[in-house]
Amino acid sequence: MSEKHNQGGGECPWKSVGAIVHRGNDTSFVLLIHRAKYPVSWAPPAGHLDEVGPSELEDPKDAVMRELSEEVGLYVSRPDDSQLVLKDLLENRCRRENPQSGARYDSHQWWVYRFTVPENFQPTLQRDEATDWRWANRDEIQRLIRQNALDPAWAEIFTRFDTRIFGE
Ligand SMILES: [Zn+2]
Repeated sequence: MSEKHNQGGGECPWKSVGAIVHRGNDTSFVLLIHRAKYPVSWAPPAGHLDEVGPSELEDPKDAVMRELSEEVGLYVSRPDDSQLVLKDLLENRCRRENPQSGARYDSHQWWVYRFTVPENFQPTLQRDEATDWRWANRDEIQRLIRQNALDPAWAEIFTRFDTRIFGE
């Protein structure tokens, strides 16, 4: 293996946000989209923080609101701290490369927030962002993980934070 390979990409400087979207008061289902971009797979709405100035990143709360509007046409009010499901550094590969090593970044600082939408909510998908959507419960998430059809970062999130997301 080359030295370049061994080095790895390190932590992605753009970081990541994600949204757990529940249907009504029922926390047993979450909204998934089929991503049109890398990694092409099922995942909750998510993305990088935008750069809002020289070496200044978007606030994670602004970023998750923007991703929800861009990916599923959902406009939510600004989340508060009670909606934070997790903040953690997770191992997951990025489509972007570390210019130093040439390797793709392999971890991200994540913020995941929880939202609730009415039962009859219908996502509006942007074709370049997502090609399909569905509600999935815990069993369906586990099945997608076994089929390698869930974004690997979210496979880890749903495995490690299962009860925090779905309840006991
Ligand atoms: Zn990244």
